[in-house]
Amino acid sequence: MKQLSNKMLSMKPSSVRKLTKYADEAEIKGKKIYKLNIGQPDLRVPKEYYDRIREYNEPTIEYMPSNGIPELILAVQKYYNESGIDIEKDNIAITTGGTEAVLFTLLALTNPEDEYIIFEPYYSNYNTFFTITGATPVPVTTYAENGFHFSKKDLESKITPKTKAIWVTNPGNPTGSVLTDEEIEAICDMALKYDLFIVADEVYREMVFDGRKIKSFGYIDNIQDRLVIIDSVSKRFNACGARIGVVISKNKEFFSVISKLCQGRLAVSTIEQQGAVGLYSTGFRVINEIRSEFEKRRNIIYNNLIKIPGVICEKPEGAFYVVCKLPVEDTTEFLIWMLQNFDIDGETVMAAPADGFYATEGLGKDEIRIAYILEEDKLERAMYILAKGIEAYNNK
Ligand SMILES: *Cc1c(COP(=O)(O)O)cnc(C)c1O
Repeated sequence: MKQLSNKMLSMKPSSVRKLTKYADEAEIKGKKIYKLNIGQPDLRVPKEYYDRIREYNEPTIEYMPSNGIPELILAVQKYYNESGIDIEKDNIAITTGGTEAVLFTLLALTNPEDEYIIFEPYYSNYNTFFTITGATPVPVTTYAENGFHFSKKDLESKITPKTKAIWVTNPGNPTGSVLTDEEIEAICDMALKYDLFIVADEVYREMVFDGRKIKSFGYIDNIQDRLVIIDSVSKRFNACGARIGVVISKNKEFFSVISKLCQGRLAVSTIEQQGAVGLYSTGFRVINEIRSEFEKRRNIIYNNLIKIPGVICEKPEGAFYVVCKLPVEDTTEFLIWMLQNFDIDGETVMAAPADGFYATEGLGKDEIRIAYILEEDKLERAMYILAKGIEAYNNK
C-alpha cells in the first residue's frame, strides 16, 4: 500500500487521553476514578441554550451565511462591547468551535518556515494545527517554580527573522497562569518592534481569580491591526459540545482570507448557532457564576497540593487548571500505577501527564495537569487519594 501522509503520521496522539486505556481497564474491574485529566466543565449549560433551540422551527435546515448568522454575530459584538472591547460586526466570523478558529488563523497566516513563539507548557491540541499548516512552534519555556511567568528577555531571545506571530493563551491552559501587565506589555512591544502578529486565545477570558481584572489584548489600541482573537462558547458557558467559536480581527486583509475559508467550508451548524444566541443572551450572569465556582475549587486544589511533601506549584490565577511538579520521576508511570495498583476503598485518581504540553523534549516528565472539573467534596476526596497515592508510590 502507498504510504499515508508523513506529516499526519508524525502527529502525536492526545496527551490528555494517553491513559484512557488504563482507566477503562480499571473501571471494568470496578474501580471508581476521579477524572481530572480532561478540561471539560461539569456545570450546567444555561437553559437559554435549549430554549432557543426548541423555538427553532423552520421547514428546512438551510446553510446559513458562511461568516455566521446575523443574530449570533450581533450577540458576540454586544458581549464584546459590554466587555469594553470595541469591535464591529465585520470583524467577527463564527467558527465550528474555537478549534476551527485556530485552524483558520494558522491557515490564513502561515507560509512555509514561519515560526510562532509560544509559551510552553501550552495547549497541546495546537500541535495538530501547527502540523497541518506547516507552522513551526518555537517555545519559550516557563516554569512551575514561578507560576509559569516569563520575562521580556526570555521572549525576545526566541524571535528570529522567521517569526510570524506571538501566540498566547490567556488565561493559560494547562498552567492556570494569567498574564501580568508587564507580560502583556512585553508581548505588545515585541510585536511592534519586530512587526509580528499577536494571536490571543482568550477562551478563558473571565476566569481570573482573587479579584484580578480581566485583561484582553482587545483593550490595547496600538496593536489592533496585528491582533487575532480566538474565542469560544465552550468554557464560558459550559457548552463544549455546542461547537461554536469565533475568530476576531480588525486586520482587513487577514479577515478577507478568513471569510474565504469560511466560504470554503460553507457554514457552521444552523441549530447550534441558534443555541449560542441563547447562551450570549445570559450576559454576565452565567459567566460570573462559573468564575466563583471555579475559584472555590481552585482553593481546594491548591490548599491540598501545597500540603503534599515535595509538590511544587504556585497558586493558579485563572482558567480551571494547574500544572504542578510531583516528587516522582515519571508522572506517566505514576498515573498508570495509580490506575492499576492503587485505590482507597475502591477509588483512585487520574490526571494528565504534563510532558505532552511541552514542545521541548524531556520537559514536564515530573509534572501533571489537574483540571478541577468536579464538585468540591469530590475534589477534596480526589486530593486526599492523590496525596496518599504519592506517599505509597514512593514507599513501595
Ligand atoms: C477548550 C479550548 C479551546 C477551544 O475549544 P472549542 O471547544 O473548540 O471551542 C481553545 N483553546 C484552548 C486553550 C482551550 O482550552
